[in-house]
Amino acid sequence: SKTKIIVIGGDAAGMSAASKIRRSHHDWEITVYEKSPHTSYSACGMPYLIGGLVSSSENLVARSPETFRKKYNIQAKPLHEVLQIDIPKQKVLVKNLESETSFWDNYDKLLIATGAFPNKPQLPEIDSKGIFCLSTLESGITAWDYIKKQNPKKAVIVGGGYIGVEMAEALLEKGMEVTLIDRNPFIMKTLDPDMSEDICEAMTSAGVKLHLDENLTSFKASGDGKVKKVITDKNTYDADLVILGMGVSPNSNIAKEAGIKLCDTAAIQVNEKMQTSAENIWAAGDCASSYHRLRKKVLFVALGTIANKHGLVAGSNMSGEEMIFPGVIGTAITKFQDLEISRTGLTEKEAKDMGLAYETATIKSSNFAGYYPGSGDIKVKLLVHKDGREILGAQILGNPGSGKRIDTIAAAIMGELTAYDLAMMDLAYVPPLSTVWDPIQIAARRLI
Ligand code: FAD
Repeated sequence: SKTKIIVIGGDAAGMSAASKIRRSHHDWEITVYEKSPHTSYSACGMPYLIGGLVSSSENLVARSPETFRKKYNIQAKPLHEVLQIDIPKQKVLVKNLESETSFWDNYDKLLIATGAFPNKPQLPEIDSKGIFCLSTLESGITAWDYIKKQNPKKAVIVGGGYIGVEMAEALLEKGMEVTLIDRNPFIMKTLDPDMSEDICEAMTSAGVKLHLDENLTSFKASGDGKVKKVITDKNTYDADLVILGMGVSPNSNIAKEAGIKLCDTAAIQVNEKMQTSAENIWAAGDCASSYHRLRKKVLFVALGTIANKHGLVAGSNMSGEEMIFPGVIGTAITKFQDLEISRTGLTEKEAKDMGLAYETATIKSSNFAGYYPGSGDIKVKLLVHKDGREILGAQILGNPGSGKRIDTIAAAIMGELTAYDLAMMDLAYVPPLSTVWDPIQIAARRLI
């Protein structure tokens, strides 16, 4: 009989895998259970929906459940939650969230692609109206609807990671007064403090009120249940909208309950073929672990870039075509207004914590020829190994066109290249787009 595939979770990782399996096997039966109403949506696009740059939530859906069914013969079932995995019997317990009925479904091969959930500490009145986390498209639409109907004026964002930074831009765009609170002394702690300082400056001069080194303690709501105040260990803030961007955790509970091994991070333990500890079960995306090639340990990294690759690798191996996931090096990018922010590899702090002998160079230059209209600043911090001069990491801040230069450095790290190799790399130049020595090469030259 036909091989039967079940995928739990119908977004980046789950649908990448399902689509790969369909490309390899036209006759296999593929069912995807997704508890929200949407499949293949862009969570990453939600700040731009809320900020008004994207006009409709439908624009954030790459492929609907109907498209998957009609065009790809993939049985995408939205509003179906998987409650339990029975490993010995190779079946899952599914709840239809519309009819409230449950049923068992058998699989030959199973993929767990349940993503991550936003951290939400159990603090007084945190469930008041007007307090939102962003995770699924559904959660983004709920926040977006609330903003359209209630027209909030004072927003407090808790957490200065990339979601906090992107939402600060979006809410300023909507004309709100924006306060951002973080318990660390700097925001964007995936960068070094000397870089993060520049981001703080850019946000402050754009009107964001930054309150760092402050711990959230509780909320206060008015009689109608709407949030009114955000309380920290140092201050009380008026708010009629709160966005929580306090990090995410792997959604690995059903795997754990079934007896599948988790890592210390609570992400599902997988090998380089994305196989879990259980036979015929793979895991991919935010719920699964990733090996960091430079930190030489297994980490939990929740990024769409990785979820898609995990999905392809899992789908290939489930199809019987061997493919290896080579690990991550910590490449990420975001932006706040005109300031692009990117990083790859190790920060100085990470290199120090690992006890590595390293050297750094930080340079300031122009994102393209200084005489060309509209040119702006770029700052590059590069780290190399002290002995072999291999590139260990980089952070870039700068005007439009700066951020994606991190990809060249990511390629250099993946290829184990040195500062000399990067400085001499045959990169492109034209005045409107670059400088004759690209800023990343100016930094590399200092470290040859
Ligand atoms: P998810 O996208 O979380 O999908 C998992 C799905 O599984 C969900 O739809 C969920 O409803 C479903 N599910 C969970 N449990 C069950 C169950 N028991 N039964 C059925 N269904 C279940 N990444 C980047 O690389 N760049 C960015 O710019 C970026 N921006 C982001 C902005 C925001 C606001 C957010 C929230 C995330 C952003 N990300 C970004 C991260 C990126 O969206 C995620 O890494 C990516 O979506 C992970 O894909 P996934 O398939 O592993 O998990």
